Amino acid sequence: MSRVVRIAGDRAEFPAHACVNCLRPAVREEEIVKVKGSAVRKVHVPFCEECIAVRRSKSRRQVLFERVAITNSVLLAIAAGGRTYYAVVLGQGSSTSRGWVWGLLLGTLAASAVFGLLYTFIVPWSSRFRSPEAKAALKAVTIREFDWDTTTLEFGNDEYGDRFAEVNGPAQRPDRAA
Ligand SMILES: [Zn+2]
Repeated sequence: MSRVVRIAGDRAEFPAHACVNCLRPAVREEEIVKVKGSAVRKVHVPFCEECIAVRRSKSRRQVLFERVAITNSVLLAIAAGGRTYYAVVLGQGSSTSRGWVWGLLLGTLAASAVFGLLYTFIVPWSSRFRSPEAKAALKAVTIREFDWDTTTLEFGNDEYGDRFAEVNGPAQRPDRAA
C-alpha cells in the first residue's frame, strides 16, 4: 500500500528531517523529478547516506544485462556504420577523396543513430532487473501528479505518509482572481 498526499506548490516539509525510506536521520537531499510535456516539477527529499547508495545501486543482473546489451548495440552500430560507408563509397563509383569523406560522415551518423536508438531501450529495460531494496528506496516517495498550484506525492510507507500529511496539512488552493 502507499499513501498519497497533496501539498501546495513544490515546497514540502519532511518530518524531523528523517530519511523517507528508513526514517533514520537524513544527511542529504535527493531531487525527485516528474516531467509532464514541457512542465517539470522537482521536489527535494531527505535521505540517509545508505538509502542514497541503495537508490543508485545496480544489481548484478542489471550490470550484466547492460554490459551485454551495450556490447551488442556497439557491434550493431559498427555494422550499420560500415555498411553505410561501403554503400556510399561504392555508390560514388570510385574511391575519390570526396566519396571517402561522405562515406565516413554518413557511416558515423548511421552508427550514432543505431546506438542512440538502442540505448534509449537499454536504460528502461535494465531497470527491470533492479534489486527489491533499490526499487523500494526509489519508490519511497515519488511525484504522482502536479499542476500549477499543487504537487501530489506518493509515499511507499503509509506511516511516514500520514506523518508527512500531518506536518504539511491539506493543500490549500490559493484563490486566484480571474
Ligand atoms: Zn535511509
